[in-house]
Amino acid sequence: MDADVGIIGLGTMGSMAMWQLAKSGASVIGFEQFGVGHDRSAAGGESRIFRTAYKEGTHYVPLLKDAYKLWRNLEEESGNPLLTLTSGLIIGHPETADMKNVYKSIQEYHLDHEVLNWEEAGKRYPQHRLQKGEQIIIDKLSGYLRPQLSIVSAVQRARDLGAEIHSHTAVDHIKSERDGVTIFAGGKTFKVRKVLVTAGPWAVNFMQEFADFMDVRRLVNAWFLPRKANHFCEENFPVFTREREGFYYYGFPSVDGNMVKIGMFTTEKSRISSPDSLDRAVDLKELAAFAEIIEKDLPGLYPDPSRVNSYMEIYTADRHPVIGTSTGQDRIIYLTGFSGHGFKLAPVMGKIGAELALYGKTDYHIEPFSPARFIREGSV
Ligand SMILES: Cc1cc2nc3c(=O)[nH]c(=O)nc-3n(C[C@H](O)[C@H](O)[C@H](O)COP(=O)(O)OP(=O)(O)OC[C@H]3O[C@@H](n4cnc5c(N)ncnc54)[C@H](O)[C@@H]3O)c2cc1C
Repeated sequence: MDADVGIIGLGTMGSMAMWQLAKSGASVIGFEQFGVGHDRSAAGGESRIFRTAYKEGTHYVPLLKDAYKLWRNLEEESGNPLLTLTSGLIIGHPETADMKNVYKSIQEYHLDHEVLNWEEAGKRYPQHRLQKGEQIIIDKLSGYLRPQLSIVSAVQRARDLGAEIHSHTAVDHIKSERDGVTIFAGGKTFKVRKVLVTAGPWAVNFMQEFADFMDVRRLVNAWFLPRKANHFCEENFPVFTREREGFYYYGFPSVDGNMVKIGMFTTEKSRISSPDSLDRAVDLKELAAFAEIIEKDLPGLYPDPSRVNSYMEIYTADRHPVIGTSTGQDRIIYLTGFSGHGFKLAPVMGKIGAELALYGKTDYHIEPFSPARFIREGSV
């Protein structure tokens, strides 16, 4: 046996699982097809929002609270600043389903927050042009993460604790056997007791039975220069998410004292046929949607972006992740399908992946993320 656990993909989830496994004393081998900390899949673009008042469901809140503590642990262990709290603005009309869900998680878990009506919001955050009737919910346990530094920090920490890392080494395939799993990578074979599939957009290559329930989507981010830099620094301009007339987007303060990053939520139209076909060029039509946001809602920014880029992510049919094993394959654990909102959860997901690999169970409530929901239902 070469190791207790093998990890396919040292991106967001794989790096955190590797850190947690190495910390628990397990032997672990990780494979990454590109360099560790690359920006070619789901973790690129230098910032990710952390938020706790969660529109995606109240059941995430306990996970987010633990994720917060684990982010702070990783900061201590690595000596790197990874999470900056700015508080977070959730902007929208109070009657929308998302705003109601946010409020439900606040009430259920007594989360520290404030609610501003549009008049108060306009005075406090004049950078956002609000429509009458919209409100801002301020989530106090919210801010931004540094994704690539986080991944490198977790992998480095795991290496220091004894983990074996094979970067620039793609796993070609895996074979489950009675006593373990053989991994075929870089012209060699490795035998491990359990495998964690954390391959992000490429995960379907290792879980074909889920192909009908998962799709890879392209997500564009654009960076804009402020007319007045100090209006958009992190003290004055917290991270935010906004829904206006069914249109969803989010943004960050200028984390480098310079540009403000804006991203749009994806739709099914952003589907791509394969992660290897990601088109990184962004065309004028896509930029027009960003220009409209700036013109209507954020007039303190110059409408022409200074930088644009595209990334990708794997989505499931219900936008919740897939965590656990498939029928008859208890040596292969999936930790994937984070559907555009997984980064903030990464360390707690790494911990869950490590517990499933080592003990076959976890105390976290992961039932809503069970792979069986797709197998059982047959369609979603
Ligand atoms: C533009 C964008 C903005 C986002 N914003 C937010 C946000 O603000 N807040 C938030 O919480 N979440 C956000 N997300 C979602 C979050 O970033 C993802 O959910 C998370 O990064 C997914 O992690 P992952 O480990 O599944 O994938 P990745 O981080 O992509 O990791 C998968 C890794 O596996 C490797 N790999 C694949 N196949 C193989 C193979 N055969 N052999 C070896 N290695 C392999 C890949 O190279 C990659 O490094 C955003 C996502 C995108 C794309």
